[in-house]
Amino acid sequence: MKNTIDYLVDLLSIPSPTGNTKAVMEYVHNELIALGLTPYFTNKKALVLTLPGKDSSKGICLSAHVDTLGAMVRSVKENGRLRLTQIGGYNWETVEGQEVYVETHEGKKYTGTILIDTASKHIFSAAEESPRNDLHMELRLDEVVKNPEDVKALGICAGDYVCYIPEVQVTESGFIKSRHLDDKACVAALLTIAGKLKDTELPYDIHFFISNYEEVGHGSSAGVPENTITMLALDMACVGDDLNGDEQKCTICAKDSSGPYDYDVKNHLIDLARKHQIPYTVDIYPYYGSDASAAQRAGGNFKAGLIGPGVDASHNKERTHSDAIQATVDLAILFAKNPL
Ligand SMILES: [Zn+2]
Repeated sequence: MKNTIDYLVDLLSIPSPTGNTKAVMEYVHNELIALGLTPYFTNKKALVLTLPGKDSSKGICLSAHVDTLGAMVRSVKENGRLRLTQIGGYNWETVEGQEVYVETHEGKKYTGTILIDTASKHIFSAAEESPRNDLHMELRLDEVVKNPEDVKALGICAGDYVCYIPEVQVTESGFIKSRHLDDKACVAALLTIAGKLKDTELPYDIHFFISNYEEVGHGSSAGVPENTITMLALDMACVGDDLNGDEQKCTICAKDSSGPYDYDVKNHLIDLARKHQIPYTVDIYPYYGSDASAAQRAGGNFKAGLIGPGVDASHNKERTHSDAIQATVDLAILFAKNPL
């Protein structure tokens, strides 16, 4: 069986902006099959796996999302540069200089770089004053294109996906640096958890829900198995000013923008972490929503909880540590074995 970081590096290396997740979902599907398990796709193309428990009238749903930030071609400028529209919520500053590829309808891939339209310091002395917004950020293709006709001849048009090329690094000190650790760190965690629980006697069914539209707010709004009594979302934890998140700990989220998570579930998670010496912290996220809260908003009649590894510089140049992912794996397994 692969270890969690092996899974993570594989996952990070398969770009999957929201709506374009087929390749990465096939990877997750195949890895679960390789473990001898039988996942299935929902109509919405989320991936679900159930490990049957002793009492199958109740289920615990562990979720993570495999979709990430990205962009789409919006139009072609007169000079052959591309205007983009964002997929997911982020600041344009965070992708200035980002290497990307454009994927055409025919499946061709063309590389390029996201730049501000005043990128050259030798021409624009006050380039720093240019607003970083969708009017001024552009994609420079690595092709000889000087006008919209040249771009059209490549087969590039509005609606084509722009995927950010991940720059994955695993350091000897245990850090993982890459875009899209949100939430692939937790998808990797779920693969490990499935491998560890598959031959374990479990009190209730344990469902694994890999969602594919979280970054746009409705990842798990449909398809969560009927007998779910608690949905525990595994998603990145915020690290930064005024917060308790830590790149070497698992955060138990008490409240985010969607409101408080279930009080009993939160307390149970804290008790489990304390009892088993799992490095944890409890936190409140000011600008955040999860698949668990999205599923509740869609009418899900179950309790919700949220845990995850601390990720520094979220929706930017992200970084976490293997300790935090391990703590998240351990806490989720404890919850599966001691469900609420
Ligand atoms: Zn996320």
